[in-house]
Formats: sequence, C-alpha cells, structure tokens
Amino acid sequence: MKTEFDILIVGAGLAGLTTALACAESGATVAVLDRNPVGVVSDGRATALSATSLRLFENLGVDLVGLTQPIQDMLVTEGGPNSPWRLHFAGNGDGGDLGALIENTPLKTALLQRVTAKKNIKILAPIGVHDVEHIPTGVTAQTDQGILTARLLIAADGRESVLRRKAGITTQRFDYDSASLVTTIAHDLPHDGLAWQRLILGGALAVLPLTGHRSQIVWSGPSAGIHAATEMDEDSFLALLSEKMDGYLGEMSLTADRQSYPLRLQMADGFTGVRLALVGDAAHVIHPLAGQGFNLGVRDAAAIADGIKMARNTGQDIGVASLLEYDHWRNADSRSLGVVTHLISETSRGHSGVIGHIRRLGLALTDRSLVIKSALAKQAAGESRELPDLMR
Ligand SMILES: Cc1cc2nc3c(=O)[nH]c(=O)nc-3n(C[C@H](O)[C@H](O)[C@H](O)COP(=O)(O)OP(=O)(O)OC[C@H]3O[C@@H](n4cnc5c(N)ncnc54)[C@H](O)[C@@H]3O)c2cc1C
Repeated sequence: MKTEFDILIVGAGLAGLTTALACAESGATVAVLDRNPVGVVSDGRATALSATSLRLFENLGVDLVGLTQPIQDMLVTEGGPNSPWRLHFAGNGDGGDLGALIENTPLKTALLQRVTAKKNIKILAPIGVHDVEHIPTGVTAQTDQGILTARLLIAADGRESVLRRKAGITTQRFDYDSASLVTTIAHDLPHDGLAWQRLILGGALAVLPLTGHRSQIVWSGPSAGIHAATEMDEDSFLALLSEKMDGYLGEMSLTADRQSYPLRLQMADGFTGVRLALVGDAAHVIHPLAGQGFNLGVRDAAAIADGIKMARNTGQDIGVASLLEYDHWRNADSRSLGVVTHLISETSRGHSGVIGHIRRLGLALTDRSLVIKSALAKQAAGESRELPDLMR
C-alpha cells in the first residue's frame, strides 16, 4: 500500500470528499481516510446547494444530472403560503441563481464516483487514526493499517473532530436546546420548485422541493417537541404536518424515516494548525435554517485548493504556504454566516409579544427593500465575498 501523499484528509463525509476532489485538481496526491466504510450512507437529509457550490461541482466534473431540483422561488412566511407577513425571492426562471436541492445519499454517491475515477486520490476506509506527529518535512499519522505520511493534513472529521482537539484548537459553542426533524414526503400537487419556510411556534418548518412530486421536510423547534413528533405514529404525524402546511401540496405520504438532529452553533477558534487545515463541520457548525452549513464547507474546499495550487506553482511547501491566507479567508465568511443564522434562529424562537411583532415587521420591511434582499440573496448564493478559482 502507498503510504506517502501530499495531502491526507481525515473524514470522507461530504466535506472531505469535496476537498479531496478540489485539492487533486492541482495534481497533488491525496489520501482520504475514514473510520467507517464509505459506501454506507444512512443520511436522510437533503442539501440546498448554492449557485456557487453547483458551479464548483460542475468544474470538478461531478455528475449531478437528474439528481437536483432547481429552486425557482424562495418564500419565508409567518402563517400559510399566502400570508402577508412574507419575504419572497424570485429565481431567474431556470432556478440556477437560487441553487438546487439534492438528497445527501445520491450526492455522496456522485462524489464517490468522481473520487474513484481520479488516479491521484486514494480512499482508505475503514481505518482509524490513533495519533498524529510532526516530522521536519510533514506529518505522520499512525493508523490501524500502518503509518501514513503527508505534507498537509486536513481535518474533515465532523463536529466532534478528534484532529481539532489533538491540535489544541478550542471552539466557541452554543447549544440551541432545539433539534430538526427531517423526512421526505410524496404529494399530489406540484411544488413548482418553491422552497418554503414557515416560522412556527419556537422554530420553523421548511418544505423544500425535491425531484418529482416529492419534498424534504425540515422541522426545527424545541428538542422535546421534535422528539415527540419523531416518535408519534405515522398517521398522527402526517395529520399534524398537513395542518402546519395548511393543506399546501394536497394529499401526502412519508417516503422516508423520520430522523432528528440536535442543533448547535460552533466555531473553531482557529481554522489552521501546524500543517493542518480544518474544513466542513470540523471548523464550523451553524443552524440549518438557512441551509448553508455544507455550502461553507464547499467554500473551505475551494479555498484550500487555491492555496495548494499557488504553493505548487511557486515551488513552496504546500503544508505551510497553502495555509497562509486560509484562516483569514474562511474564518470571516463562516463567522458572519454563523451570526446571521443565529440572529434569525433567535428571532424565530419568540413567536408572540414584542419579538413576534418585530419579526413580522422585519419580514414585511425586508421584502420591500431591494438592497437588503439583494445582499441576503448574494450571501445565500455564496457570492458576497471574493470567490476561489474553482467557484468562478
Ligand atoms: C437538519 C440539517 C439540515 C441541513 N441542511 C443543509 C442544507 O440544506 N445546506 C447546507 O449547505 N448544509 C446543510 N446542513 C449542514 C450539513 O449537513 C453539514 O454541514 C455537512 O453534512 C457536514 O459534512 P462534514 O463532511 O463536514 O461532516 P460529517 O458529515 O460529520 O462527516 C465527517 C466524517 O468524518 C468521519 N470521521 C469522524 N471522526 C473520524 C476519525 N477520528 N477518523 C476517521 N474518520 C472520522 C465520519 O465517519 C464521517 O464520515 C444541514 C444540517 C442539518 C443538521
């Protein structure tokens, strides 16, 4: 087995696989290692990919044809879909500017297919990493199957990142005492590509369009209520859901299990260490309300790939030179989105009283302000900052 690589990525989740493809573009040799078998996915979620993330996947040759549902319109309301308390974003007709929905399982399969086709990427799984040490020219990782060496280590090992902890990088964390229930429905009426988010007591209900007459439900709220909705029998759950959706989409049935995810805001205090970069949830975890967590991870992947390309083109050590801009670039983007999603989630938690009035007014006023709407749309599309090469 080959044991020396330019880059060693720990974690073959969505962020790790995307980072592997982005880094391999410059010709660097990449190993991606995971403690779990990589083909097995039990993730019932779907991801809203921004326009810039879609562009990156196209540039990397990841085949998403037939798997994505373009978002034609986005609507946030307090009340039903026709409520006057609303914020509406119209797409450009083909939906490309508002992004698209894709289920995580086919997305991961498409990423794996592309990774497997690349000669300079090796997947090693299931393999555990026991220890990481620095040597003058790089890092060594002790694994179940021997020692691997690389010049740059990338932690893509999720929100509980062991590599982050081993590097002594602390985090700031806020637990929402909330969770998201995720499931998929089939329905009679067409969704017309509308991504609708309804602010409800203590949280939000998102109905997100998937291919065909199907939608992803992401219902976020206080943990106890979400736990009860996950456990209740299917008929009662569907009746409750139908009531919250005001009959929008007509008759419906569940086509997937209900899964629940605890919610937190978490930011690493630094996104780099010695010969180390954090990407994806290892670096930042944000409230899913704006559907941006993985999109941040995609921008991490593109940014570190830019640094690696620059280091290789100028004959510098990629384990050092690729990190020079990375922390500054990614920290600012992640923190600003973390703050925005936190503020939205906090105002959506108070339903009545002053907060409720402010929120309703905020929706109506924002809807009338082209400047604010355009800034929000740019942030959601990932276009509010300078873009790495692979996203242009
Ligand atoms: C309800 C919900 C809805 C969401 N919707 C959206 C959305 O619409 N749009 C969006 O952009 N984002 C969304 N997100 C966020 C997005 O799902 C996450 O940001 C993304 O899945 C994180 O991927 P990751 O690869 O960083 O981490 P993970 O998926 O956690 O992957 C980490 C990988 O590392 C491996 N690993 C862990 N520890 C080790 C170790 N010690 N050694 C080896 N391997 C290890 C694990 O096995 C795993 O494969 C949502 C999140 C939630 C909770």
